[in-house]
Parts: sequence; structure tokens; C-alpha cells
Amino acid sequence: MTVPAFGEIDPPQRLLMGPGPVNVHPRVLRAMSADMLGQFDPEMTTYMNQTMALYRQVFMTENRWTFLIDGTARAGIEAALVSLIEPGMRVLLIRAGRFGLLLSEIAERIGADIRTLDLEWGEVATPEAIEAAIREHQPRVLACIHGDTSTTMAQPLEDLGTLCRRHDVLSYVDATATLGGMAVDVDGWGLDVVTAGLQKCMGGPPGSSPITISERAAEHIFARRHVEKGIRGADADDGYGARIGSNYFDLAMVMEYWSERRLNHHTEATTMLYGARECARVMIEEGLENRFARHRAAGAAMTAGLRALGLRVFGDDAHRMTNVTGVWIPEGVNGEAIRHRMREDFEIEIGTAFGPLAGKIWRIGTMGYNAMKHKVLLTLGALESTLTAEGFAVPRGAGVDAALMAWNHALPAALRNDRA
Ligand SMILES: *Cc1c(COP(=O)(O)O)cnc(C)c1O
Repeated sequence: MTVPAFGEIDPPQRLLMGPGPVNVHPRVLRAMSADMLGQFDPEMTTYMNQTMALYRQVFMTENRWTFLIDGTARAGIEAALVSLIEPGMRVLLIRAGRFGLLLSEIAERIGADIRTLDLEWGEVATPEAIEAAIREHQPRVLACIHGDTSTTMAQPLEDLGTLCRRHDVLSYVDATATLGGMAVDVDGWGLDVVTAGLQKCMGGPPGSSPITISERAAEHIFARRHVEKGIRGADADDGYGARIGSNYFDLAMVMEYWSERRLNHHTEATTMLYGARECARVMIEEGLENRFARHRAAGAAMTAGLRALGLRVFGDDAHRMTNVTGVWIPEGVNGEAIRHRMREDFEIEIGTAFGPLAGKIWRIGTMGYNAMKHKVLLTLGALESTLTAEGFAVPRGAGVDAALMAWNHALPAALRNDRA
């Protein structure tokens, strides 16, 4: 049987204004076309060490254990949870959206004793509510999401580390959707383990998950280090924790691989490491504060533009992520028809929604390389045209004008040049 050759990969030039993945920074794509190195080649281990140093800046931390998990953002989440949580261990999960539910799905498979702080989609937890839940449940680990793209809300985390340390709880945060777009101040907030991905505000492709681990969390994980059964058994009462229930995601082993000892585990995903390293270099060259300001400006411009079109923005302004905006689909408008026209006529993708918000809101991202003025303006112009075509009257030109004003208002003149 002959197999068709199919075509060379040559995707259309879509502008990805959904909640991720987003268009990749050209410098990152170029870095990813570089050739392979052997995994213990001194050039390769130098790149690995540089990547650790770069991500310490990205995560605003001094944590020695700051490196990459090979896999999408979910790989980082799973590695963190399976390495922190032992079967039967009490955990508290803050669940306010789809990714909060993912935490419980993973914790269930581990066999954790799960307690939850459940919120309506679109709400965030107050420090008082978090502390009350910690007092009630006395967990060993607390896990939550920073920016849950399913709801477009950002959980305030300033007090989380202090609360957790006061009650001897280890904290885990999924910052996939915020890292690179909003401050993720790991040391300032006293967080223990934080993971992310590249395909949102880091402006890279999916497939690598940056992680950072505090000393006390690393100690907890190393105490579960795998040793041959019979020497120090998984269940032996010797002060060592239960063996981590995954080989690939055994952070004790992965940390040994990234340590000076370079104990062989997997083969580091070379191309992804090149990409992750370049994402961080781009971010640090731009400057963290400038980059957060650019995302704030893009979010403010998008929100202002949507409102000027007569649309209602989802959720509370006080807790909105700066890099993805939920907007109610107006009464009588077919949300999928708009998304279809946006894609077919304008090559622009905007996001649909999940769970209780499915069919009710669109989610429009302004992340990483797409958090730029002209991309916001193009998206709003296209939305105006498609809404009109679907019979929903909008004030012509108002969205683009309002967005432009909001962008210029949000940024000092020196930062308005629209380079990411
Ligand atoms: C997008 C997103 C993820 C995605 O995980 P992948 O495995 O990379 O698909 C995880 N968590 C949050 C909060 C996200 O927004």
C-alpha cells in the first residue's frame, strides 16, 4: 500500500488571540532550530545551568532548584503533586475553575485525602477564607491556581506563603497562565513549589514546564528519594517518606539530574530547552516590570475596546488577569458563528469556554508575543465586523478607538512602540 506523502508543514498565519497557545516569538523559533548536543556535553550542561539561572529571575526567586520539566504545563503540575503528596496525605485544594478541578483529578489518582475550598467560577478566595480552611482541615499541602484561564481571574497570592508557613503547610501554585505576563513573586510571596508552561505569556510553544522548588519543599521531596526495596523500603518506618509513585515525574530523581552530579534520568528535551532558554532571555531583556506593564496595557486596551463595542466583560475588574479577558456573548448571537468568521475571514482565533461558562463567554487572550497594540486593535476591528455581519449592531470604530486610547493611557511614551 502506498502512503501519501502529505504536504510539508505549512500552517496558515493565524493570529492566536485565545487563552493559549499563542504565536511564538520569532527568536524562540530560531533558537529551536539549532542542532543537538549530547546530554552530558559541557556546552549542553552549560545551557542547562544558564536556563536555571534565567528562570530564577523569571520566577523572582533564589531557589537553587529551578529547572524544566519536559512535557506541557500539565507535566509540571503532575510532577509537583506526585512528588509532594503521599497516598493518604491530607491536601487542601482551592478550586475556582477548570484547572482547580484538574488538581483534584491528579490528587485523587495519588490517593490523597482531599479537602477543598470551592468557589463559584469567577470568584477568588480571600486570605481569611484560606486561613479558615487551613485551620479546619490541617492539610500538609495546599494547592491552587494563580491565573485560571477558564475563568480569567487571578487568585491573589501575596499572603499565601505566610499563611502556609504559619501552619506548616507546603504550598503549590500553578502559574502556567500568568508567568511572563503578571508578577509571580515566588520568594516575595513565600511559595514552595510553582510550575508553569511556555505557551501563554512566556511566548513559547507548549512542551516545557518551568518549575521552582523551595529548600523546605526539596527536603520533603528528597526524603522520598527512591531507594531499593529491602535497603530502605518504601513502607519502612525510618523517617523516609513513601516512594514517589511515578518514575518520569520523580522530582527527587529529576533534581539529581539537574544537580552537579548529573545522575542520568531522562534525556533532557534539547530543543525545548533551547526554546525555554530563549523565552526567558527575551523576557529579561525586555525587563520584568516593562513586560508586566505591556500585558496590563494590552488587557486594559482589550477590555476598553470590548466595552466600547457595547459588550459586557466577565468577572470582577479587581481580580481580572491582565492577559486574558472573558466577554459575555450577547443575547441572540451565535458564539461559534463569530469564532468561525473571525478565523475564516481574519485568520484570528479567539477562545471558547468550558464548564458553567461554555457557550456563555468568549475568552480573548493578549499573551506574550501577542500582547501588542496592533494585535489588540486588529482583533477588535475583526470582532466589530463579524458582530455586524451576524446582525448584532455595534458602534462603528468605537472599539478600536477606545482600545488605542487605553493603550496610550496605560503606558509611558517610551513603551508604546509595540515591540515584544
Ligand atoms: C493553559 C493552562 C494549563 C495548560 O496545561 P498544558 O498541559 O500545557 O495544556 C495549565 N494550567 C493553567 C492554569 C492553564 O491556564
